[in-house]
Amino acid sequence: MSDTTDCAYCGCDVTVHDPVYVREGGESSETPYCNYGCLAAHVEEEGLAVGTTCSVEL
Ligand SMILES: [Zn+2]
Repeated sequence: MSDTTDCAYCGCDVTVHDPVYVREGGESSETPYCNYGCLAAHVEEEGLAVGTTCSVEL
């Protein structure tokens, strides 16, 4: 058994890339992504950037 971690977006082994780990919402575990590209794609796909404190729309 090797210590591999799959990207939450594309399913690749993140350890061969430049992985980033994100703690989402109330989850206690960190979610792995290959890089910021996969993270950004995931955020965009899930609409996680909508309704956050970053939004300035009223
Ligand atoms: Zn990925």
